[in-house]
Amino acid sequence: MTISFRALGASALLLVAAALPVGTQVETRVPLPVPDIPGYRTLKADLHLHTVFSDGNVWPTVHVMEAWRDGLDVIALTDHVEYRPHVADVTTSIDRAYSVAKSAADELGIVLVPGAEITRPVSADDPFGATAHFNALFVRNASALDAPTLLEELRKAREQDAFIFWNHPGFRVEKAEWFPAIAEAYEQQLFQGVELVNGPNVYPEVFPWIEQKRLTILSNSDAHDPMPPRVAAGVRPITLIFARSADLQGIRDALVQRRTAAWMGGELWGAEEHLRALWSAAVRFETSRIKPGTFALFRVRNVSALPFHFVPPKAPAWLRFEAAAIAPEADSLLRARITADAPTRQTTVDVQFELTNVHIAPQRNLVVTIPLRIDVTRP
Ligand SMILES: [Zn+2]
Ligand SMILES: [Zn+2]
Repeated sequence: MTISFRALGASALLLVAAALPVGTQVETRVPLPVPDIPGYRTLKADLHLHTVFSDGNVWPTVHVMEAWRDGLDVIALTDHVEYRPHVADVTTSIDRAYSVAKSAADELGIVLVPGAEITRPVSADDPFGATAHFNALFVRNASALDAPTLLEELRKAREQDAFIFWNHPGFRVEKAEWFPAIAEAYEQQLFQGVELVNGPNVYPEVFPWIEQKRLTILSNSDAHDPMPPRVAAGVRPITLIFARSADLQGIRDALVQRRTAAWMGGELWGAEEHLRALWSAAVRFETSRIKPGTFALFRVRNVSALPFHFVPPKAPAWLRFEAAAIAPEADSLLRARITADAPTRQTTVDVQFELTNVHIAPQRNLVVTIPLRIDVTRP
């Protein structure tokens, strides 16, 4: 066997480079700014994660570190109660995932919510229990939830005072439906929320149920593997929680009282009052001086990580905006054409923006009215 001198030289160089003290690599937290709204802290949460204690490929502390790195405030490790493919190697109960992660979470200021996923098939026709998975949060003893039927497991979770939500309603079906097992659990008041978003999936058919059934809206990653950094892969699905305090009690109250919003892929879903308050806290418009027959530029400052898209806004006929987007964490310049018949004086006009990525109800986007001060001067 011969090794060329060239090849040897290159690998030797690589070895030397690896050994050079180029500075210690440190983990960094990249802020994910989402403003608080009046009366509430806005917490960024991922309440559906798996570890090696069920079918995940992640040690519990890794989820904590990744959440910290990506600017989150709250996570829940929700291992399957009944499905534990690694149990020959990871033999302790799923409750260990929480205790293993807890000190790392405390050290990094991440609120760790105890949790578990209930995955009991409802019938022989549904071997994966595809349509009826639930996360139970704030449980004290996750392994004790195990029982022969889905309803029994949900009842046990309720006895532990859990907040329960229906996971990925469209999992392994073409379209989510208000399935018989779901209807039964709902009638028995065994769950209070639903994932509108799970990983890359949005279930638009679920959105009407949020109001009709008075459910809490959730958006979670359901990650079973390590999470790529947000700076490379974009923001993961996040549940925004509007909490009086950044602790378990504050989070529980917010979930029970339906003070949440779903955020995924630059889209937001939630109640009008919360999303309007977020917009108001995030975005400032600045006045500009304008000449008629030209373009006016309005500077818009967005201090949040949320983008805002809009169709051409409603404004007086002499002020013509186009569809555009307000970039996250940046100043954006919005262009409007000022026609020659614009009034030449200082005036305030109400401009109405329909935010096409901010959904307050099925087929209804948030509409905001911005009073713009305009000072048109003749040349
Ligand atoms: Zn799983
Ligand atoms: Zn899951």
